[in-house]
Amino acid sequence: IPHDVLIPDLPLFPHLPPLLSGHPDLHLRNGILAADSSPASHDPDSERAFFVADLSQVYRQHLRWQSCLPQIQPFYAVKCNPDPYVLRLLAALGTGFDCASNGEISQVLDIGPVDPARIIFANPCKAVSFVRNAAKMGVDMMTFDNADELYKIARAHPRAKLVVRILTDDTKSLCQLGIKFGAPLATVPGLLAKAKELSLTVVGVSFHVGSGCYDPSVYTDAIMRARAAFDMGTDAGYRFSLLDVGGGFEDALFEQAASCLTDAIDTYFPDQSGMKILAEPGRFYVSKAFSLATNIIARRAPLGETPAGSSDQPSVMYYINDGVYGAFNCILFDHQTVHPYVLSMGGSFHVPATEPLHTSSVWGPTCDSIDCVCPTTQLPRALRVGDWLGFDNMGAYTMCAASQFNGFQVSKVLYTLGGFKASEVWGVLAKFAAEHV
Ligand code: PLP
Repeated sequence: IPHDVLIPDLPLFPHLPPLLSGHPDLHLRNGILAADSSPASHDPDSERAFFVADLSQVYRQHLRWQSCLPQIQPFYAVKCNPDPYVLRLLAALGTGFDCASNGEISQVLDIGPVDPARIIFANPCKAVSFVRNAAKMGVDMMTFDNADELYKIARAHPRAKLVVRILTDDTKSLCQLGIKFGAPLATVPGLLAKAKELSLTVVGVSFHVGSGCYDPSVYTDAIMRARAAFDMGTDAGYRFSLLDVGGGFEDALFEQAASCLTDAIDTYFPDQSGMKILAEPGRFYVSKAFSLATNIIARRAPLGETPAGSSDQPSVMYYINDGVYGAFNCILFDHQTVHPYVLSMGGSFHVPATEPLHTSSVWGPTCDSIDCVCPTTQLPRALRVGDWLGFDNMGAYTMCAASQFNGFQVSKVLYTLGGFKASEVWGVLAKFAAEHV
């Protein structure tokens, strides 16, 4: 891992370093935040794949959120990418956090002075010991969507501030969650009556339109349903004051989603006085902030000259040192497709556009044949073992679910504060990698 790479320090966000400094393991060196001081040369795995995290991109997304949805407080979904420096930055920027487990709650509270009121325990089906622990940690806000959860909470955390998670249309999302979570509207009056009977406090309504939502108009329907659930709350004797609009925000459609949400909230909640609106964005904050550099560790190609790139069938198989059991689990779990590009070839990181291509496939390092990163792609015919491939948009639902199957370690992260073009970062990193392999 190239810890000491010299990158020109372009202080696009000069106030970020102070927000991130103070951590004993975090050193700022020429624009790169090195999280580990062990020298690269001591690493027995020196061609190891690595992420580059541009923390300024996380910050930019936060500014975008504030500009488009100033009335909605983001509670970052930790599950999406629990990177300690992302969490630290978001804590410093004042976001809340959506946690799904004891582990995530502890990780957020351990950052430093994070008020437990900035956490929503947004898992509607929790172990009773987790509910008890939340009570101990002062985390009161939590979701439910079934009666059994109410009995557990009545026993383990009777002071909790409950949020009923309702079912909404998730058919326009990459990852649908409704099959597992969300109370159909018809069941909500019964649940609220049960909550009342158990003397529990229900403060509002949440929903999740599914992760990776590609039709923002579903937010309109979801807000309409949330309105109906608010009215059910009034009928049950509650005065709801919290609306949680969940996650699902896709980078490219964010402005559209924000406008659908704003219009729908204004229509269905004309009186927002005393009301708190929050959301649980995950991938919106981190997806573009992380890129992954992988080394070509092996190649299977016909002996001699590789055939010209006329065929649609891959003629060459490249094996890289991260795969679907690692960061690329997003292909299996998050329904993603990834697109490799050349970072360095033959020691050079300038690949001429005229370079002849051939149809190739890209595979992970494990012994399993499911470990295919990219079944067909066009790559330069001259690409060889030792060259580097890059992948963008690798920040969401990647390293958080990576395993060490077959003894392959999870790729490490190199932190930057941005301020330079991606090609500049890659140029310097690829040069460094080429020199040290
Ligand atoms: N909130 C909950 C309860 C979730 O389950 C998820 C993702 O699965 C999120 C928020 C984050 O969703 P996204 O990354 O699509 O914004």
